[in-house]
Amino acid sequence: MGVVEASDLLRGALLGLSKSDLVRRTVETAPVSKQVVARYVPGSTIPDAVRAAVDLRATNRLTTIDHLGEDTTDRAQADRTRDTYISLIRALSERDLTRYGAAEVSLKLSALGQALPTDGRSIALENARAICSAAADAGTTVTLDMEDHTTTDATLEALRELRADFPWVGAVLQSYLHRTEADCRDLAHEGSRVRLCKGAYREPAAVAYQDAEDVDLSYVRCLKVLMAGQGHPMVASHDPRLLDIAQSLAAHHHRTPDSYEFQMLYGVRPLEQVRIADRGHQMRVYVPFGDEWYGYLMRRMAERPANTFFFVRSLVSKG
Ligand SMILES: Cc1cc2nc3c(=O)[nH]c(=O)nc-3n(C[C@H](O)[C@H](O)[C@H](O)COP(=O)(O)OP(=O)(O)OC[C@H]3O[C@@H](n4cnc5c(N)ncnc54)[C@H](O)[C@@H]3O)c2cc1C
Repeated sequence: MGVVEASDLLRGALLGLSKSDLVRRTVETAPVSKQVVARYVPGSTIPDAVRAAVDLRATNRLTTIDHLGEDTTDRAQADRTRDTYISLIRALSERDLTRYGAAEVSLKLSALGQALPTDGRSIALENARAICSAAADAGTTVTLDMEDHTTTDATLEALRELRADFPWVGAVLQSYLHRTEADCRDLAHEGSRVRLCKGAYREPAAVAYQDAEDVDLSYVRCLKVLMAGQGHPMVASHDPRLLDIAQSLAAHHHRTPDSYEFQMLYGVRPLEQVRIADRGHQMRVYVPFGDEWYGYLMRRMAERPANTFFFVRSLVSKG
């Protein structure tokens, strides 16, 4: 078995294991987790998130801020998440960070109530609408994160509804899904903002490419559609090959630097983030904050076998 297949297997196994309550309890309480979390999450409070945005701005990096949390199972929690986002947007605005969208926010509809048994979709939509309204007042934008494939249609439907009132709302598309090239074609129109990533969930072969090379090839096909289109592509990747291809396509289509952007995760390839910003590109960093870091951390571990070996060894040896 090659290194690539082994790391694909490890990734799948880790994403599967992350659903176990025992693994969750072990990871959440292990002292080593705190050190690893600190690399990817700047803190748990709104002031922590604002401070990260201020620091990133000092090196010309833009931000999109995510309040950690997903799979919300009660209405009160969904409403608290909405209120946290509204307070966050006001705090960013007070520091003059929202003008021209320098700091925007990213939302998971599941955190806003999408999976609630009664009226989940409309509750999440109303909560998202309230956040979009606060963003409009502050002069910034909102992007909808994409979760597992069972939610893709509902998220794209919510996008359509939100864009009727807030035409600047963006969404994430994941190149590992077979459907995504077609979704890119639908969303390559003027005013559209699409954040293209590879995809971070464990998905079945019926809907998603399983091989890393196929995911990359799909990413390139999707990039071609978005860069040729009229919208604002957001190239969300740390993969050097894909970043080079994105730059070549942008040049080929005579795109100006303000008509697309690069995006990376907080704590991942920070020096490359600064280099890209220094070369005059728009570079936006996805900054998660809050206490509900478990799902986010496990997806980051699954992306990087080296991180995972180190992390699992530390968990086992320190308990
Ligand atoms: C701004 C942004 C928003 C995102 N939103 C979503 C979303 O809504 N839904 C979703 O499913 N996924 C989302 N993702 C995650 C994405 O799907 C990938 O899982 C993640 O970006 C890793 O893919 P990659 O393109 O960087 O390529 P990879 O092939 O995974 O990585 C390329 C290189 O980047 C570095 N790298 C990548 N990940 C890590 C890491 N965790 N730690 C250290 N180094 C690393 C390594 O050097 C690696 O060799 C988002 C990613 C970004 C950047």
